[in-house]
Amino acid sequence: MGEAEHYSDMYARLLPPPRPPSSRLRARLARLAAALLPDGRCRLCALPSRAPLCSACQCERPARWRCPRCAQPLLVPAAGCGSCALRLPAFAGALAWSDYAPPWDRLVAQIKFGDDPALARWLGRLLGQCLRAERPGWAPPRWVVPVPLGPGRLRGRGYNQAWELARGLARELDWPCDCGLLQRRRDGPAQSTLPLARRAANMRGAFLARPLARGARLLLVDDVMTSGNTAEQAARALLRAGAADVRVAVLLRTPAAAPR
Ligand SMILES: [Zn+2]
Ligand SMILES: [Zn+2]
Repeated sequence: MGEAEHYSDMYARLLPPPRPPSSRLRARLARLAAALLPDGRCRLCALPSRAPLCSACQCERPARWRCPRCAQPLLVPAAGCGSCALRLPAFAGALAWSDYAPPWDRLVAQIKFGDDPALARWLGRLLGQCLRAERPGWAPPRWVVPVPLGPGRLRGRGYNQAWELARGLARELDWPCDCGLLQRRRDGPAQSTLPLARRAANMRGAFLARPLARGARLLLVDDVMTSGNTAEQAARALLRAGAADVRVAVLLRTPAAAPR
C-alpha cells in the first residue's frame, strides 16, 4: 500500500462521514490550486519566495539555547531549566523550531485555522531538518506519533495540523509515522483558551494509547507547547502503553515570562 493511500485510509477511519461531493471537490480544487500556484511570497516577511518561508526566514529564529528536556529558552547553555530542576517531565527530551511569539505565531494560526494542511506538512519537513541539526544524538524512533485532536475538533477542521507536521517530519527523516497509535478520549476545551492554572486538569486522562511493543522509542509531534501539559499527558499515556522513551518535537515553544 502506498503512503498516500495509507494516510487517506487513516483519515477515512478517523474522520466523520464525508461532506457532500460538491463542497469536498471545491475544497480539494482550492487546495490543489494553492499548492500549484503559490502566491510566491514568504508567509513571514512577504518577500518573493518559492518556498512558504524564504531562506532568510527559515534561518532567522531566536538565537537562544533551549532546555534539552523541555525546550524552554535559556539565557546560557545548561543541562536543564529551573522548572525541570523542580520536576522532570515524563518525556525524555524536547525540541522546538522557534518561539510561540510574533511573527512565528502567524504560522500556527495559518495551519490551525487557515485550512492549510500543505503548509503544516512543509513546516514538518523544516522541523525535521532542525531535529537532524540540533539533536544529532536522538536515535530514530520506532514511530513518529502526532498529538491527536478530539473527534469534534477534527470534524470541524477536517484535518489535524499535528498529523500533517508529523507526516512532513517523518518524510524528511525517513522515519515511520503512526497517526492512530495515540487517541484522544474526549473534546475538552482547547488548551489555548484556558488559563495556565487550569490546563493540567483539562488534560488529565485525555489520552489513550494502543498497547505497544515493550521498549518502543517514540517521537511525539505537536504544533505548540506552552505549559507542557498536553505533551506530559500524551507521553504518560504512551509510557503506560509500553513505550520505553518518549521525546517531543514541537514547531513553536511559548517562552516563560523571563527566560531561565
Ligand atoms: Zn521571509
Ligand atoms: Zn526544562
